[in-house]
Amino acid sequence: MHLVWHRADLRLHDHPALTAALQQGPVLGVVVLDPLILGATSPRRRAWFYANTQALRTAYAQRGGVLLVRTGSPWEVLPRLANELGAQGIFAVRNSTPYARFRDGQLEKALPGRIRWFGGQYVQEPGTVLKPDGAPYTVFTPYSKRWWQAEQGRVLPAPEHFPALSLPAEIAQGEIPLEEAGVPLPPAGEDSALRVLEGFLRDRLAAYPRARDLLDGSGVSRLSPYFTLGVLSPRLAVHQALQLGGEGAQKWVNELIWRDFSGDLLYHHPRMLEAALDPRWEGLPQTDDPELYGAWLQGQTGIPVVDAGMRELQATGFVSNRARMVLAQFAVKLALIYWRPAERAFRDLLLDGDNASNLQGWQWAGGLGVDAAPYFRVFNLTHQALTHDPGGVWLRKWVPESGGNPEPYKPPVLDLEAARRRYLEAAQRIAKGAR
Ligand SMILES: Cc1cc2nc3c(=O)[nH]c(=O)nc-3n(C[C@H](O)[C@H](O)[C@H](O)COP(=O)(O)OP(=O)(O)OC[C@H]3O[C@@H](n4cnc5c(N)ncnc54)[C@H](O)[C@@H]3O)c2cc1C
Repeated sequence: MHLVWHRADLRLHDHPALTAALQQGPVLGVVVLDPLILGATSPRRRAWFYANTQALRTAYAQRGGVLLVRTGSPWEVLPRLANELGAQGIFAVRNSTPYARFRDGQLEKALPGRIRWFGGQYVQEPGTVLKPDGAPYTVFTPYSKRWWQAEQGRVLPAPEHFPALSLPAEIAQGEIPLEEAGVPLPPAGEDSALRVLEGFLRDRLAAYPRARDLLDGSGVSRLSPYFTLGVLSPRLAVHQALQLGGEGAQKWVNELIWRDFSGDLLYHHPRMLEAALDPRWEGLPQTDDPELYGAWLQGQTGIPVVDAGMRELQATGFVSNRARMVLAQFAVKLALIYWRPAERAFRDLLLDGDNASNLQGWQWAGGLGVDAAPYFRVFNLTHQALTHDPGGVWLRKWVPESGGNPEPYKPPVLDLEAARRRYLEAAQRIAKGAR
């Protein structure tokens, strides 16, 4: 018997580790509740993780399988479990954040030669899309050109039945905690994710290139919370979109390539967790003003597009990519809020919160060295609202005080024009200083 250890791959479909383990014989699924990860995240994200773990347990049970849940450090819990049950080895989908690499290294030391790793978190694994000379990419467009040339591999079906297992009668399945999310969660589990994907591809894929930038998020798939926990296979999503074809499919797959690119960046540059990818930008001036930070975080800056985005995020755990760019750029470039605590707080509010994508998003929108984003690009916030929320419906929903008008509805926390000049002067000094 083999253990299949699920981490950010809470699904049965297109699961290379599960498929390979089943070729060897009976399998037992396991999820380890790791206090180092779960203790450091927010109630809403823990609740989303638990809900999807529960759905995975149900999916195992419906096919005659078992998913155990244990709590503790994986490199202590799993060797104990493997020895207790006489498991021959552990199969898992590779993760590549700095902590995941440390964790998995510890497990390999504890069970030498008994762990097998597989792809599956991304379409193209971090570290595999390289320049012809073997160096990693730091700019998206050439990365994406190379990405399209790589083999995507076959989408693997979910098993129909699990082979019978004889487990000791006294073995406990392990409890999955229940936690109050504080926000409405999307329906959990891969069947729900597959239904959302089907609806998006059927109804909104064709219009995606035009509708994806709407601030209210009505033109996008809202699949990110599923991708983050691997409830939905990104490879399956890419295959299905490309089968339909057209401009919408190309554009949407391009966004999933950004996801792969984010994973690749963090894989090659783990220091992104702590510093700007281009360290010169750590020299941007910072305001140490808790009231300004609090106004940004609570959606009380007086600037409708910023406040609408933050209030939606606080209330739902989701906000569109366009709003995320506005929120991060406002914080880093205009309010001069130090990006690290803001990025962290933002990630905890997002149901799709993910180290790699959030770091990439912040460091791209904040002009901190990701991609070729020029530092002198600073959004005109009124223009953003007028262009991407025509009619002000989204503004009115989240900031009723604004009446849907993109101009400040109360004295704003910043003089936007002065803030823009202050940023550009500082940024120009940094950019020139290094040349
Ligand atoms: C400041 C900032 C922070 C962000 N933080 C996160 C985060 O923590 N987790 C996260 O998943 N995404 C993050 N993103 C990327 C993007 O905003 C979300 O993935 C997207 O808004 C999710 O909505 P959707 O599923 O409807 O996307 P769709 O437009 O339907 O796109 C499909 C999928 O492609 C991926 N994707 C789309 N855009 C991007 C992008 N720019 N970068 C990486 N992947 C992308 C997502 O997995 C998404 O589900 C961030 C972007 C910014 C600017």
